[in-house]
Amino acid sequence: MNRDIKKQLISILGEKACLFAEEDLLTYSYDAGKYRALPQAVALPDKTGQVCEIVKLANKNNLPLVPRGAGTGLTGGAVAAKGGILLSLERMNRILKLDQANRLAVVEPGVINGDLAREAARFGLFYPPDPASVDFSTLGGNIAENAGGMRAVKYGVTKNFVLGLEVVLPTGQIIHTGSKCIKDVVGFSLSELFVGSEGSLGIVTQAILRLLPLPPKQGTLMALFPTMQRAARILPAMARAHVTPSILEFMDHECLKALDAKEDTDLASQAEALLLMEVDGRQEKVASDLASLDRLCRENGASRIEQALKGADRERLWSKRRSLHASLHLIKPRWEEEDISVPVAQLPDMLKSLDQVARDHHLVMANFGHFGDGNIHISFAGHEHDLEKAQALTVRREIYQAAVNLEGRIAAEHGIGLDKTDEISWNLDHSTIEFMAKLKAFLDPNQILNPGKVLPRTEERD
Ligand SMILES: Cc1cc2nc3c(=O)[nH]c(=O)nc-3n(C[C@H](O)[C@H](O)[C@H](O)COP(=O)(O)OP(=O)(O)OC[C@H]3O[C@@H](n4cnc5c(N)ncnc54)[C@H](O)[C@@H]3O)c2cc1C
Repeated sequence: MNRDIKKQLISILGEKACLFAEEDLLTYSYDAGKYRALPQAVALPDKTGQVCEIVKLANKNNLPLVPRGAGTGLTGGAVAAKGGILLSLERMNRILKLDQANRLAVVEPGVINGDLAREAARFGLFYPPDPASVDFSTLGGNIAENAGGMRAVKYGVTKNFVLGLEVVLPTGQIIHTGSKCIKDVVGFSLSELFVGSEGSLGIVTQAILRLLPLPPKQGTLMALFPTMQRAARILPAMARAHVTPSILEFMDHECLKALDAKEDTDLASQAEALLLMEVDGRQEKVASDLASLDRLCRENGASRIEQALKGADRERLWSKRRSLHASLHLIKPRWEEEDISVPVAQLPDMLKSLDQVARDHHLVMANFGHFGDGNIHISFAGHEHDLEKAQALTVRREIYQAAVNLEGRIAAEHGIGLDKTDEISWNLDHSTIEFMAKLKAFLDPNQILNPGKVLPRTEERD
């Protein structure tokens, strides 16, 4: 990066908010996925005006510009794959307004999701989107990824809570989408264009988020099942009984083995599948929903059921789910990971297909995730050795084929990033991809904003 651009960056932000030393750049060279690349500079703005100035500077000089929240993404979205300026929104971390009467919050993008949830709870309000990274990912990153989480089964994902956005476009203009009104049909519905756009169409500098009344009580239920297919029968049974848990998570046998290895338990000898559920609402509703779930689990062959209503007891059950990722990495340090979704009723068939793929390729495969919304997190590895790249790719393709056969999606909540750009054609046809590319070219004529992400590689874009 030439000295003149460095000088201009410093004049916009001040010296302390610009990083150029290699040891500083290194700490911004990765996210939580497998990709690594050094930016040429890190910019740390703390107001929208500064973001605009930096965007204009990058645009004028054809410099790649990569927005970043907390860097917890799993597909390389916040990695500066083509160098340039990494724009970290971490200092724009103020909750600007918590409006109890209108049940909404106005936030800057660098606010940590859990901080908003805790602040909302002080006012008797509730921000439901809860990615497992809730305590360390930012709302800007959640919006850019349309993050999901465990409560999606009842409450939906991030897009369902975005009322409006302030966005800096790749040419430096500021636009405002949506409003504080629940009903608003003034102009195109633009917020959704930016939610899930992975920082490739604009930089979110402020958001108006919808809040709900805080449910007064929660109850948790854990059930062990002799087979995954029996566990899966709970889905239609719940629909028939009109019970909607706020969370419905599953783990397969390989996951139970990993938990046993970490926690010295013996879950895997008792069962092939574990379901963890939560219900919320008023005390009587929580009690009756727990009773219904208990009955449905027994009717479908659950061998052991535990219920918890108190905070510490619920936490003990949830700690199994929270420690799962770490437990899996204890038994195998290197897994290939996928994140797919299918329509909920197709979930048992998808799990059968995954079993088949694992058998065909002699893999260790651990499946867990969000039973209630059809999202499976798949980890696979060789029994003895790491998989060759070509074999991992073949397995990936077979997984995608199985998902697509069931009308599923190849990315559910972890985005496309750098990881699946060439794979989006599994789900999107040529004209849809072309429309996305035209939209990108219209908003970002110099292709400076987060280049190399989301869209398939072409000579023009590379
Ligand atoms: C342990 C763990 C558990 C996780 N669990 C879940 C889960 O349950 N559900 C889930 O959905 N995800 C999960 N994730 C993935 C990740 O936490 C989410 O994708 C999260 O939304 C990323 O937020 P971030 O602030 O870290 O964003 P980053 O990783 O910094 O960025 C993610 C993307 O957003 C863009 N971006 C960031 N800020 C902005 C902005 N202000 N404007 C425009 N673009 C921006 C970046 O360019 C990048 O493309 C998990 C990750 C980890 C490590």
